[in-house]
Amino acid sequence: MTLRCTCGSGALEITSQSYHGDSAFESYECQHCGRTGTLDHDGATGSTRLSGCLQ
Ligand SMILES: [Zn+2]
Repeated sequence: MTLRCTCGSGALEITSQSYHGDSAFESYECQHCGRTGTLDHDGATGSTRLSGCLQ
């Protein structure tokens, strides 16, 4: 899975991450436009939700 910012840049830097079992929560900041977003992966259902500038 390739993460991209809504500005079109793929220059995303992880600013924080945490893991709980099979689940993961990561925060990103775009190095191009400075917007931030989060990735929320639920290991129980296998679903991944993106918010903020991530797409
Ligand atoms: Zn961006």
